[in-house]
Amino acid sequence: MLRAVEGCPFCRIAGGDSRAKVLFADDDVVAFHDIAPKAPVHLLVIPRRHIASLAEATSEDASLLGKLLLAAAEAARRSGTVDAFRVVANTGARSGQSVFHVHLHVLGGRHLAWPPG
Ligand code: AMP
Ligand code: ZN
Repeated sequence: MLRAVEGCPFCRIAGGDSRAKVLFADDDVVAFHDIAPKAPVHLLVIPRRHIASLAEATSEDASLLGKLLLAAAEAARRSGTVDAFRVVANTGARSGQSVFHVHLHVLGGRHLAWPPG
């Protein structure tokens, strides 16, 4: 059993919070719809295991982070936006990170301007 961090909304989702709109999940990762979408496709992919941010990740997390990236591509594929999507990991409050459990945003379904703000 993975240890959930109290008060962490994404640990709750990893633990089966039924309010999340889950696209797919396996033993290691969960992909679900962002509650406040910023694009027609806006999914979040999280590891079940709590890691606060990419800045806290270590070499022990290498395999899990690889799975997370592959899950992001799978989420884009299943959402029909695999030809043009963006994967974002806000890291640190000043970058816009508001939930301190590693997550990849998968954005697509519209033109994505570059560079982001
Ligand atoms: P960030 O600001 O990069 O940390 O991204 C956190 C994202 O999580 C935001 O886009 C929120 O809209 C989203 N979010 C927060 N709580 C939930 C939730 N319970 N279910 C789905 N998405 C959520
Ligand atoms: Zn967590």
